[in-house]
Amino acid sequence: MKITNCWICRIKNNTIEPVFGDINISDGRISDVEEKPFDSTKVFGDSPEDKNTINAGGRVVTIPNINFHDHFYSRLAKGLTIKGKMDNFHNILKNLWWKLDILLDKEMIRASAQMAALESIRNGVTYIFDHHSSPESASGSLKIISDVLNEMGLRGVLCFETTDRNGKALAKEGLQENEIFLQNYTDKNIKGIYGLHASFTLNDESLQSAAAFVSKHNLGIHIHLCEDKVDRDFSLKQYNKLPVERLQHFGLLNEKSILAHGIHLTENDFRTIEKTGSAFVYNPDSNLNNAVGLPDFSHVPDSIPKLAGTDGMNSNPARSLKQLFLLCRHEGMSFDQAFNWVIKIFFDQINFVKKYFPDFTSLNLNDRADLVVWDYIPPAPFTQENFWGHYIYGILERPIHSVVQNGKILMKNFHISLDETEYNSNINEQGKRLYEKFNSSS
Ligand SMILES: [Zn+2]
Repeated sequence: MKITNCWICRIKNNTIEPVFGDINISDGRISDVEEKPFDSTKVFGDSPEDKNTINAGGRVVTIPNINFHDHFYSRLAKGLTIKGKMDNFHNILKNLWWKLDILLDKEMIRASAQMAALESIRNGVTYIFDHHSSPESASGSLKIISDVLNEMGLRGVLCFETTDRNGKALAKEGLQENEIFLQNYTDKNIKGIYGLHASFTLNDESLQSAAAFVSKHNLGIHIHLCEDKVDRDFSLKQYNKLPVERLQHFGLLNEKSILAHGIHLTENDFRTIEKTGSAFVYNPDSNLNNAVGLPDFSHVPDSIPKLAGTDGMNSNPARSLKQLFLLCRHEGMSFDQAFNWVIKIFFDQINFVKKYFPDFTSLNLNDRADLVVWDYIPPAPFTQENFWGHYIYGILERPIHSVVQNGKILMKNFHISLDETEYNSNINEQGKRLYEKFNSSS
């Protein structure tokens, strides 16, 4: 197949080098890039397009977007009648998310994953780190999600959210679901990471049990870290240690680990985390929605990898990246400092995702043909020097036009290649079931 008339944003030594031309793709790889001069009469004119060609018409092609912290299981939770207080983070969890996740059955899990996967494709997200919770339907839940990702041609790193909040038996099932999945169902497109909820809902016994498995199999963990003060205060009161100290004590922090949020941290926590190589994933929309506070971005050391996620709020980590830029500005950073934050996340994400998928593309010759066409035609010269200005103010503000993964077209000219009809009717049916179950629960 071929993508014609596009600005290819190749990655070379931590810089982006846009070149104009056509990309040839064969056997899932970029087999040739034919550079050519930008001729506006040809680029914007009618140009032949068959089923194996995408005419990008002067648009920009980049690596795909990556969502480093999603919750597929949250997707059907729309328009619910919420009983009980929503006045702080703990009550939001108790009266919405912990009431919802316990109701999920296998059909609802499948429908939630289908909805999230379709939304991800629309947002050019083809690599997803999902954090799944369905305490009463733990067994086999990760296989359901991986089947949906495979069916849609996406890659994922999956885990089950282990927690002690539902008692000993369900905590054990959570640990087991992680371990069974990690040992039996991962392959070149679906990877696993050990899922833990957060320090304040995990006792020492569960952390110890997870740690033994993680160290034996050389795994990372995916956990919420100090999203709200409650995590810090409860851990200190109950275990006489801050969450970072607890995780470090059990040997759970390493360079494959993902720490979602990382808002209420001390200087000492930063020093511990930077030694382990674990990464922060920032989810600004979710933090604003839950009013849990925001990290003091200028104080987060550069030595800690930084990534962007959505925390289940939406499927658009590009939006998170733009929000992070604006929040950095709002907190008083200069334009240069705020630009550098986005640039750091852009390259940190590539380094991190390669720990799970070493063949992640840089859009160079013979790389995997995973790419997205943004609905953005640069209105001014587009070069290595001014790429980030285009990225932050142009590209990140535009929708995705087309998506190619492993050389296959997942979306072309805003149309998803798969027939969505059956998915949509299943999503609708299961959404209604969950809505009724949730509203009639106490
Ligand atoms: Zn989360």
